[in-house]
Amino acid sequence: MQTCLTFPGLGYYTNPENSVFGARGDFITSPEISQVFGEWMAAGKPQAIRLVELGPGRGTLMDDILRVISRIALKTADGQGGVQLKEINLMEASPAMRDIQESKLRDFASKVGCELNWHDTISSIKRSDAFTMVVAHEFFDALPFYQLQKTEDGWREVMVASALDPIKDPRLNRPTETDVPPPPPVTPGPNDPLFQRVLSPSSNAMSRSVLNLSPHLAEAAAILPAGSFLEISVESYLHAAALSQLIGRPKLPEASAVDANVDKAEAPSGGGCGLIIDYGGDQAYEDSFRAFKDHKIVDVFHKPGKTDLTANVDFALIKQAMGAQVDQHGPVTQSEFLQKMGMSLRVNALARQAENEERRNAIVDAAERLVDPAGMGKEYKVYGFSNLKESPPVYPFDVAAS
Ligand code: SAH
Repeated sequence: MQTCLTFPGLGYYTNPENSVFGARGDFITSPEISQVFGEWMAAGKPQAIRLVELGPGRGTLMDDILRVISRIALKTADGQGGVQLKEINLMEASPAMRDIQESKLRDFASKVGCELNWHDTISSIKRSDAFTMVVAHEFFDALPFYQLQKTEDGWREVMVASALDPIKDPRLNRPTETDVPPPPPVTPGPNDPLFQRVLSPSSNAMSRSVLNLSPHLAEAAAILPAGSFLEISVESYLHAAALSQLIGRPKLPEASAVDANVDKAEAPSGGGCGLIIDYGGDQAYEDSFRAFKDHKIVDVFHKPGKTDLTANVDFALIKQAMGAQVDQHGPVTQSEFLQKMGMSLRVNALARQAENEERRNAIVDAAERLVDPAGMGKEYKVYGFSNLKESPPVYPFDVAAS
């Protein structure tokens, strides 16, 4: 999955020829981000903040965030105004995506005098005394995962193998005698899949260890009947743990003795908060892996590197990885989140400003899609994590719907 999505120059996100780089018709990311500043106030109004985004894609969401916060609170380059935006940190695997992000965000960064940095990993983002605000929208679903299947003899890893017939495939059936010429290579027909899923014939290191990553996995593993699957993204776990570390509270002395990252944990942290928005839920999934090409579901082995690959996000695993260093909120449905954020006020305001009836209808339709209980409103979840000076109720997770 990682190779198909991010292999240099040839992956779905790294190959500039792929349509993900074009203007994707109906792209909507403009929730009312200004409320995030409630968290900033609860953190004691730190005078310096920084932003971190994982997998920013075309930079649309960050561009929206910057526009909104610059209206509210930012100090200008000449030192006037409120809070100082010190850095924008983007974790992005694709150089082609980085170029698009840079052209969208560079002018703003220069205008407010903040650093614009790219990272390959979260651990290369330094801990900071600035208040850190993190967002990851449709990032975790692009991360690779292991899949296990339960057999009568325990869990086995599902693996990917060549689909070529091993009798005919010269790579798998080399003649042992050198004077026998190798059979001609097999050229698969245009519709033949190149890969197939196979089950490991025996248990291996992964199938023996990965279910111990979190109690909810061990529990699912125990109760699921033979034949069931489980998808487990170790990569998601590691990224979530690193985010928690980035903004987390300094460790207690007894905890730091067993913590591998003691140095980092002791560096200053101005605290922070973050939102992870993705489809998935508070549970592990059995078989949610799917592929999209031209907005249609296709076989997961269809045109590797040209096809978007995705799996549901297991927020229970993310919560486990975040641990007690941060306060955790949700996940709640996108519908609940946006409605508690006062989406209807915002939509009404936008609709009132629309230049004509058609535009007005488009705004209302788009908003309804975001909260549609049969679609994005329910499938998409919003999960929050925070490390604030106090632990006040966090908006909008801890407030009743109006
Ligand atoms: N946030 C955007 C883009 C989502 S697509 C949106 O919601 O539209 C996923 C993004 O994550 C892309 O920018 C892709 O290049 C990046 N990405 C995928 N795997 C990654 C990895 N392992 N490390 C860093 N970035 C990755």
